[in-house]
Amino acid sequence: MTDTATPEARRTARQLAAAAREAPPAPEVDPTRCPAYGCPLRGSVDQGGTGRFLCHCHAQVDMARWQEMTHLIRAHDWMLAITRQVKAAGSSEWRRAAALAWSIEPDMAPDPQETQALYVARLVQDFEFRVGARREKPGPMLPQRTWPAFAPQQQPAGPVAGATSIGSLV
Ligand SMILES: [Zn+2]
Repeated sequence: MTDTATPEARRTARQLAAAAREAPPAPEVDPTRCPAYGCPLRGSVDQGGTGRFLCHCHAQVDMARWQEMTHLIRAHDWMLAITRQVKAAGSSEWRRAAALAWSIEPDMAPDPQETQALYVARLVQDFEFRVGARREKPGPMLPQRTWPAFAPQQQPAGPVAGATSIGSLV
Protein backbone atom coordinates (compact mmCIF):
# COMPACT_ATOMS: atom_id res chain seq x y z
CA MET A 1 0.00 0.00 0.00
CA THR A 2 1.42 3.38 -0.94
CA ASP A 3 1.24 6.33 1.38
CA THR A 4 -0.54 9.11 -0.51
CA ALA A 5 -0.73 11.55 2.40
CA THR A 6 1.28 14.71 1.97
CA PRO A 7 4.04 15.47 4.48
CA GLU A 8 1.80 18.22 5.86
CA ALA A 9 -1.04 15.75 6.48
CA ARG A 10 1.28 13.34 8.29
CA ARG A 11 2.28 15.91 10.86
CA THR A 12 0.70 15.36 14.21
CA ALA A 13 -1.48 17.95 15.90
CA ARG A 14 1.30 18.54 18.39
CA GLN A 15 3.79 19.22 15.60
CA LEU A 16 1.34 21.57 13.88
CA ALA A 17 0.74 23.47 17.12
CA ALA A 18 4.48 23.76 17.71
CA ALA A 19 4.97 25.09 14.19
CA ALA A 20 2.23 27.66 14.70
CA ARG A 21 3.85 28.84 17.94
CA GLU A 22 7.14 29.52 16.21
CA ALA A 23 7.44 33.22 15.65
CA PRO A 24 7.42 34.16 11.99
CA PRO A 25 10.78 35.47 10.86
CA ALA A 26 11.07 39.17 11.51
CA PRO A 27 10.82 41.14 8.28
CA GLU A 28 14.18 42.42 7.16
CA VAL A 29 14.31 46.05 8.14
CA ASP A 30 17.03 47.88 6.32
CA PRO A 31 18.12 50.69 8.64
CA THR A 32 19.52 52.63 5.69
CA ARG A 33 16.08 52.91 4.03
CA CYS A 34 13.74 55.89 4.29
CA PRO A 35 11.12 54.96 6.94
CA ALA A 36 8.19 56.31 4.88
CA TYR A 37 6.12 53.23 4.02
CA GLY A 38 6.99 51.84 0.59
CA CYS A 39 9.70 54.38 -0.12
CA PRO A 40 12.55 52.87 -2.18
CA LEU A 41 15.08 55.58 -1.34
CA ARG A 42 17.78 55.67 1.28
CA GLY A 43 17.33 57.74 4.40
CA SER A 44 19.85 60.56 4.34
CA VAL A 45 18.24 63.59 5.99
CA ASP A 46 17.75 63.84 9.74
CA GLN A 47 15.57 66.88 10.26
CA GLY A 48 15.65 68.14 13.80
CA GLY A 49 18.25 65.65 14.98
CA THR A 50 15.67 62.93 15.74
CA GLY A 51 17.91 60.08 14.61
CA ARG A 52 15.29 59.11 12.03
CA PHE A 53 16.75 59.59 8.58
CA LEU A 54 14.26 60.32 5.81
CA CYS A 55 15.06 60.32 2.12
CA HIS A 56 15.84 63.62 0.41
CA CYS A 57 12.25 63.80 -0.90
CA HIS A 58 10.15 62.81 2.12
CA ALA A 59 12.23 65.14 4.27
CA GLN A 60 10.95 68.09 2.22
CA VAL A 61 7.21 67.52 2.69
CA ASP A 62 4.75 67.37 5.56
CA MET A 63 3.88 63.90 6.88
CA ALA A 64 0.36 64.33 5.49
CA ARG A 65 1.86 64.18 2.01
CA TRP A 66 4.10 61.17 2.57
CA GLN A 67 1.84 58.67 0.83
CA GLU A 68 1.47 60.95 -2.19
CA MET A 69 5.25 61.47 -2.20
CA THR A 70 5.90 57.72 -2.11
CA HIS A 71 3.52 57.31 -5.05
CA LEU A 72 5.33 60.02 -7.03
CA ILE A 73 8.77 58.58 -6.21
CA ARG A 74 7.64 55.16 -7.40
CA ALA A 75 6.10 56.67 -10.53
CA HIS A 76 9.51 58.18 -11.35
CA ASP A 77 11.57 55.05 -10.75
CA TRP A 78 12.61 55.24 -14.42
CA MET A 79 14.55 58.36 -13.52
CA LEU A 80 16.22 56.62 -10.59
CA ALA A 81 17.26 53.94 -13.08
CA ILE A 82 18.79 56.57 -15.39
CA THR A 83 20.59 58.20 -12.47
CA ARG A 84 22.05 54.87 -11.34
CA GLN A 85 23.04 54.05 -14.91
CA VAL A 86 24.86 57.37 -15.38
CA LYS A 87 26.50 57.04 -11.97
CA ALA A 88 27.72 53.52 -12.71
CA ALA A 89 28.96 54.32 -16.22
CA GLY A 90 32.66 54.79 -16.78
CA SER A 91 34.20 58.21 -17.33
CA SER A 92 34.18 57.73 -21.11
CA GLU A 93 30.66 56.27 -21.22
CA TRP A 94 28.46 58.40 -18.97
CA ARG A 95 27.80 61.22 -21.46
CA ARG A 96 26.65 58.79 -24.12
CA ALA A 97 24.49 56.91 -21.59
CA ALA A 98 22.91 60.19 -20.48
CA ALA A 99 22.34 61.46 -24.01
CA LEU A 100 20.65 58.18 -24.97
CA ALA A 101 18.47 58.17 -21.86
CA TRP A 102 17.32 61.75 -22.45
CA SER A 103 16.86 61.68 -26.22
CA ILE A 104 13.26 62.89 -25.78
CA GLU A 105 14.25 65.66 -23.33
CA PRO A 106 17.34 67.29 -24.83
CA ASP A 107 17.55 69.92 -22.07
CA MET A 108 18.33 67.07 -19.68
CA ALA A 109 21.44 66.05 -21.60
CA PRO A 110 24.69 66.96 -19.85
CA ASP A 111 26.26 70.34 -20.51
CA PRO A 112 29.79 70.09 -21.97
CA GLN A 113 31.05 71.78 -18.77
CA GLU A 114 29.27 69.39 -16.41
CA THR A 115 31.35 66.68 -14.79
CA GLN A 116 29.87 63.27 -14.11
CA ALA A 117 29.52 64.00 -10.38
CA LEU A 118 27.88 67.39 -11.00
CA TYR A 119 25.55 65.87 -13.57
CA VAL A 120 24.47 63.12 -11.17
CA ALA A 121 23.82 65.85 -8.58
CA ARG A 122 21.63 67.66 -11.13
CA LEU A 123 19.70 64.45 -11.87
CA VAL A 124 19.00 64.02 -8.15
CA GLN A 125 17.78 67.62 -7.90
CA ASP A 126 15.70 67.29 -11.06
CA PHE A 127 14.16 64.14 -9.59
CA GLU A 128 13.25 66.15 -6.49
CA PHE A 129 11.67 68.79 -8.74
CA ARG A 130 9.63 66.20 -10.65
CA VAL A 131 8.20 64.62 -7.50
CA GLY A 132 7.41 67.99 -5.93
CA ALA A 133 10.14 68.10 -3.30
CA ARG A 134 11.90 71.07 -4.92
CA ARG A 135 10.38 74.29 -6.28
CA GLU A 136 12.86 75.15 -9.02
CA LYS A 137 13.96 72.95 -11.88
CA PRO A 138 17.76 72.90 -11.72
CA GLY A 139 19.83 73.94 -14.71
CA PRO A 140 23.19 72.47 -15.69
CA MET A 141 25.64 72.35 -12.80
CA LEU A 142 28.77 74.08 -13.90
CA PRO A 143 31.99 73.68 -11.95
CA GLN A 144 33.03 76.65 -9.86
CA ARG A 145 36.07 78.29 -11.29
CA THR A 146 39.20 78.44 -9.24
CA TRP A 147 41.39 81.53 -8.99
CA PRO A 148 43.97 80.26 -11.54
CA ALA A 149 41.11 79.97 -14.05
CA PHE A 150 40.05 83.57 -13.41
CA ALA A 151 43.44 85.18 -12.99
CA PRO A 152 44.66 85.19 -16.61
CA GLN A 153 41.44 86.97 -17.63
CA GLN A 154 41.94 89.86 -15.21
CA GLN A 155 43.65 92.92 -16.64
CA PRO A 156 45.80 94.93 -14.25
CA ALA A 157 44.06 98.13 -13.19
CA GLY A 158 45.04 101.13 -15.28
CA PRO A 159 46.65 104.24 -13.77
CA VAL A 160 44.29 106.69 -12.12
CA ALA A 161 44.73 110.23 -13.41
CA GLY A 162 46.20 112.56 -10.77
CA ALA A 163 47.13 109.78 -8.39
CA THR A 164 50.65 109.61 -7.04
CA SER A 165 52.24 106.41 -6.06
CA ILE A 166 53.05 106.06 -2.41
CA GLY A 167 56.64 105.34 -3.36
CA SER A 168 57.12 108.84 -4.72
CA LEU A 169 56.03 110.47 -1.46
CA VAL A 170 58.72 108.98 0.72
ZN1 LIG B 1 11.39 58.48 1.33
